[in-house]
Amino acid sequence: EAKISGRNQYKFFDPEQDRRLTEYYAQVADAKKALKTDAFRLHYQPKIRLATKEVIGYEALIRWQHPEKGLLMPGAFLPPIERHPDVAIELGNWVLDNALEQIERWNEVGLDTTVSVNVSALQLTSSDFEETLNKHLQKHPAAEPCQLEIEILETDALSDIERVSKIIRNCRLSSVRFALDDFGTGYSSLAYLKQLPIDTLKIDQGFVHDSLNNAQDQELLKLIISLGRVYNIDVLAEGVETPAHAELLHTYGCRYAQGYAFARPMPADDVLDWHSNWIEHRLTQSAMPRALT
Ligand code: C2E
Ligand code: MG
Ligand code: MG
Ligand code: MG
Repeated sequence: EAKISGRNQYKFFDPEQDRRLTEYYAQVADAKKALKTDAFRLHYQPKIRLATKEVIGYEALIRWQHPEKGLLMPGAFLPPIERHPDVAIELGNWVLDNALEQIERWNEVGLDTTVSVNVSALQLTSSDFEETLNKHLQKHPAAEPCQLEIEILETDALSDIERVSKIIRNCRLSSVRFALDDFGTGYSSLAYLKQLPIDTLKIDQGFVHDSLNNAQDQELLKLIISLGRVYNIDVLAEGVETPAHAELLHTYGCRYAQGYAFARPMPADDVLDWHSNWIEHRLTQSAMPRALT
């Protein structure tokens, strides 16, 4: 007890904190270098229409091919970067640029699809986001703006709803779509959904995970799906790991899903093969039972 309070009082000499700080600065410096050496990658995970099993788009998820540590997941490197606004925004721009370039490349070979990118509140509310987005779109004229979807966390959107709504409204003038990510985790009131001009709700995977044997989660899923219906917003469930999850969600009237049941996020180079293989095989799968609605 005494040790703990002593530690808090004399943070200055805390070797653990010192080590963490050093590590944190090293990581941010590393990230800056990684941007210059093209060490970040986007992996892509398909989004599926449950009724037909068609692919409706892909979500871009960032990875870091670290020279010593191997392939790093966003949870391991985004938090320290996010505390460094200039680096975070540079990385966010890299993601937008890369995703649009990928759309162009896929258009060129006849894969007409949409790509979602995750955008942090930091980037979305930076003073010139609308302008930045339009510049990116102009830089990639072979990508249609309606092929791009921007995902923002529900908790981020709620933190400054007036401002975020305005930014979204402006960006939508150029036909870019918006999704509310991890929906249900920041849930506070129903009314705000009316204010946010979004196209898609992505149900957080936490509601899906135990839904097969948890009656409470089942009721919450139904609630979110009917919310989507009330507000005329598409609903996609994340973290759909098994066919049983997919079937349950479809029965509840959820139209779209994403998760390991269909595919794990994969390197961009694997998408074309995966996509044509999927088209070939989904047709031989039996159709889903009819939705209840
Ligand atoms: P998210 O946007 O909610 O993405 C879904 C996460 O769930 C991804 O983790 C994905 O790999 C994982 N996932 C997909 N299907 C399943 C499944 O069936 N079961 C389970 N257990 N997990 C599944 P990932 O790639 O580690 O990304 C984590 C979070 O990092 C993302 O959550 C997103 O908030 C953030 N993120 C990823 N890429 C970017 C980016 O380019 N920019 C920003 N700002 N954030 C990003
Ligand atoms: Mg997302
Ligand atoms: Mg999510
Ligand atoms: Mg998430």
